[in-house]
Amino acid sequence: LRIAQMAERGETVAPKKPRIIAVGSGKGGVGKSTVSANIAVALARMGVKVGLVDADIYGPSQPRLMASEGERPTAKDKTLNPVPTRYGVPMLSMGHLAEPGQAIAWRGPMAGNALAQLIEADWGDVDTLVVDLPPGTGDVQLTMIQRFKPAGAVIVSTPQDLALMDATRAIGLFDKAGVPVIGMVENMAGYACPHCGEVSDPFGQGGAEAAAKTMGYDFLGRIPLTLNIRAASDAGQPPAAGDDDAGAPFVAIAGKVAD
Ligand code: ADP
Repeated sequence: LRIAQMAERGETVAPKKPRIIAVGSGKGGVGKSTVSANIAVALARMGVKVGLVDADIYGPSQPRLMASEGERPTAKDKTLNPVPTRYGVPMLSMGHLAEPGQAIAWRGPMAGNALAQLIEADWGDVDTLVVDLPPGTGDVQLTMIQRFKPAGAVIVSTPQDLALMDATRAIGLFDKAGVPVIGMVENMAGYACPHCGEVSDPFGQGGAEAAAKTMGYDFLGRIPLTLNIRAASDAGQPPAAGDDDAGAPFVAIAGKVAD
């Protein structure tokens, strides 16, 4: 009925745009992609209609994480159809478009256009898109954020000083574009020795939580550095898809993101 009324008023029914949750980090290698994939999988398990965009054009790792390597998205009238995954999360990655193992060396504007194609794909009934941004605070990120106005941003950092300083810069990027920061995630926090069980802190301890507090942002949770997470990720089995301890911190973080 509403659609009929809109038609009467001469309004067109535009396809609904999913709200975007951007996942960013100040630098690479802190686990931004791992966190993005697991938040998406955990949200799907909670019943959210969620999709995943791998905007990390310079090092797309989502096809590996989500076990969709080698898949090719189909397209209709230049609009891409996302690739289904076994975790109930349709996704698109530059890794699905480039030849495997080939470097992607686009300049800013081209990269921005390629990313737009991923975000403006035919997402069907997906209402939440988790977007794994490239690390850092470059032009591509800024353009992306300004053009697609995420509903919120999650910042991933290790507890290390340097990573935290970079994370602060990433937060500045979202602030500048008026995107609300949902909160910070501390990854690689504490390593439990598989032999003796003693917990050590290769990247320090509690830094992201303290930084979040200082800046007045929510702290979404801490993920330990574990062999399980690394091995499961490499095998295309996001820990959040399973029911063991490794997935629990991701599920807890996804719960806060969904709120
Ligand atoms: P980014 O997206 O920030 O570059 P990734 O998510 O690709 O980082 O993670 C970098 C590497 O660290 C990957 O090999 C990943 O499996 C591993 N990794 C990430 N988080 C953890 C963790 N909590 N425990 C163990 N390994 C991790």
